[in-house]
Amino acid sequence: MQNILVTGGTGMVGTVLKQYLNYNESVDNFYFISSADYDLTDMKQVEECFTERKYDKIIHLAALVGGLYKNMNNNSLMLMKNLKINANIIEACHKYNINRGIFCLSSCIYPKEPSKFPMTEEQLCESEPHESNEGYAYAKRMLAMLCKHYNTDYGREYICVSPVNLYGAYDNFSISDGHVIPGLINRMYKTKNKIAPYDTEEFEVYGSGIARRQFLFAPNFCAVILQFLYNKNIKNGIYNICDDNEYTIKQIVSLIAKILDFNESRIIYNKKYSDGIIKKTVSNKNLKELIPNLKFTNIEKGLTLTYEWFIQNLNDIRE
Ligand code: NAP
Ligand code: GDP
Repeated sequence: MQNILVTGGTGMVGTVLKQYLNYNESVDNFYFISSADYDLTDMKQVEECFTERKYDKIIHLAALVGGLYKNMNNNSLMLMKNLKINANIIEACHKYNINRGIFCLSSCIYPKEPSKFPMTEEQLCESEPHESNEGYAYAKRMLAMLCKHYNTDYGREYICVSPVNLYGAYDNFSISDGHVIPGLINRMYKTKNKIAPYDTEEFEVYGSGIARRQFLFAPNFCAVILQFLYNKNIKNGIYNICDDNEYTIKQIVSLIAKILDFNESRIIYNKKYSDGIIKKTVSNKNLKELIPNLKFTNIEKGLTLTYEWFIQNLNDIRE
């Protein structure tokens, strides 16, 4: 039995991973930590974490995360906190001889004007990320660089996974800071049920609705993380994690409205809000070559399950 450290253990992905492991009994001991256990921006606390017990592997999920509008308004904070977390974690992994790990990037750190679509992994640093999330993007790009060079210099097996927009149970449903799916579900629910200050006749979607996004249901991502962790043929590199689909925000709004039984004639688009990057499509060719039989939850089912969870946990959601 090995000891596996999971940072970001109280976040959406960390919590879903914990549940997944409860259903599919694991051979190893997983330890889930959050910022309440150790502030990973502080190297002293990181050292305390890594000396509490000997860890054999790591799944590094911890990050300061947010939707478009949180990123736009907090670039310095996203850069500083995430740089510190990532540098501290890699330094400690090497110092305490954790030879293998899965490290989490994101498709939103890719170039804003790539040479081609869909973007493959070697395009990650070919040009600048979108200005809306420069801080988050460069901190994640540095994590990719750290993994690459510790692998080259010290023979480590630090593997980077780069998922597209994730959604599901335990997401952050904050209307100001969250991602588009949880933000829309929460706000549309409040408008439909006339909960102030969202008890308006019109329902405003932020932006024009033409931006395109790829989405992945968080449990599908957790299944991939575990397959990567245990697949001895994978020793390094970056892997985009997504299915074959891409949607406009308008399509997502319409799907959510159907699930909530919300009258679509009440929906308007406010172009005063930024659309963020219009398109950031990444390729899943390398993922499919490695794991050809991957199963993905379709968006209608994933959104329905997410909404059901939201309704069942109204008093406990993060917002
Ligand atoms: P999340 O729900 O916001 O959870 C973030 C986790 O990081 C929480 O457990 C949080 O702990 C922890 N954390 C934050 N700052 C910390 C600090 N200073 N010290 C220790 N722990 C800290 O995020 P998520 O959606 O699960 O994301 C997981 C990973 O996937 C992240 O690396 C993220 O960048 C990546 N990702 C997410 C998306 C998405 O759409 N959500 C898309 C692509 C990639 P507390 O609960 O104690 O604050
Ligand atoms: P991104 O994929 O990193 O840009 O992050 P988001 O998940 O926040 O998605 C942002 C996209 O959704 C932009 O095109 C926004 O204009 C659009 N959007 C529409 N309504 C909302 C909303 O209520 N919240 C958020 N976060 N985005 C919204």
